[in-house]
Amino acid sequence: MKYTDDFLFEMPKSDLHLHLDGSLRINSLIEMAKKMKLELPSFTEEGLKENVFKKSYSNLGEYLKGFQYTCAVLRDLENIEQIAYELAVDNQQEGVNYIEVRFAPQLLIDKKKSLTFESILSAANKGLNKAKTQYNNSDEVKIHHKPEFHYGIIACAMRNFGPKNYSPYYTNLFDVMNYTDPTDVVHFAAMEMVRASVELRDNKSIPIVGIDLAGQEEGFPAGRFKDVYAFAHKNFMHKTVHAGEAYGAESIFEAITECHADRIGHGYSLFMPNRILAPEIKDKNKYIQDLSSFIADQRCVIEVCLTSNMQTNPAIKSIREHKFKDMMDNRMATTICTDNRLVSNTTVTKEYRLAVDNFKIPMKRLKDIVAYGFKKSFHPGNYVEKREFAKINMQYFDKVAKKHGLV
Ligand SMILES: [Zn+2]
Repeated sequence: MKYTDDFLFEMPKSDLHLHLDGSLRINSLIEMAKKMKLELPSFTEEGLKENVFKKSYSNLGEYLKGFQYTCAVLRDLENIEQIAYELAVDNQQEGVNYIEVRFAPQLLIDKKKSLTFESILSAANKGLNKAKTQYNNSDEVKIHHKPEFHYGIIACAMRNFGPKNYSPYYTNLFDVMNYTDPTDVVHFAAMEMVRASVELRDNKSIPIVGIDLAGQEEGFPAGRFKDVYAFAHKNFMHKTVHAGEAYGAESIFEAITECHADRIGHGYSLFMPNRILAPEIKDKNKYIQDLSSFIADQRCVIEVCLTSNMQTNPAIKSIREHKFKDMMDNRMATTICTDNRLVSNTTVTKEYRLAVDNFKIPMKRLKDIVAYGFKKSFHPGNYVEKREFAKINMQYFDKVAKKHGLV
């Protein structure tokens, strides 16, 4: 079946795995850096695309290089608000009706510049809310009955950081915890992050809908943050975990069973027996079969980021080798996401184009993928409101499909 660009653009979409600090408009980054007198490798779009935000990267380190510049401009409240606003607008303009924007607030905190956990989250919320209000009052929604736009914020804890080159907050933390094991410092910061998230959600009405664990996965398994996730769990906070991006299937198992993950970010290595390192797993293929069946049965959703996975795993030679096929063959619940719009040079529409061009996705399956993006979202409303929003979007999907002669 052939899906046209127009159809993919018009169909209602969501993005549940979207990093604020990887999704700036390139021109805003340049303007903001100039205003803040920050050094960039280039001050032109072409120059930055050649040196930093490339089409493909030789390794993860190169992929991550751009974040030092984006995080630097985000250490400013006005910039955070503007970037969040622009991100929501960019999504609205390509038919994305729901986004969950994630970032690690502790990477941006700098008391000297009034950047606190609360002011940072408030600024991001203000930008997103402004875009939401404008869109939901526009003619497109009011007169042409397009579905409304909604959003949530996911706060990320970092799996690993050190005293230098991460953020002023982390540097300070290491300073005051001078005699503490670095692993405990990292754990302490994650615990503080989840406590702050619950507090801001409950008492400041900031829609922090979930928590995430980001950063270097290898050597820093999710299970180490078990009690951080237990605290979120007890407080009815939704949970996702970056897992199976760099580590094997056993890391995904840990994220689900020990951290109660509702969703998994990437889950890429789930179908790679050679990535399994746990010595007690003797029959690796059977383990993968059992685990994928377990995940599918739980309806735990995999947030699939095709372009990003290709860029950070140069070992994947062709998109058709991506394990998305195995995920679909095993009837797992998946949703298509961008990860980083700037760093991965992508949009939600482009990711769908890539998916439908390279994998066999009949209409019914495509509709399922779109539906999971709404049904398994951490929508800030209650369950009844979430269902209603998903229903409206799926009815709109049918309308668009009909218009394009697909049903
Ligand atoms: Zn990510």
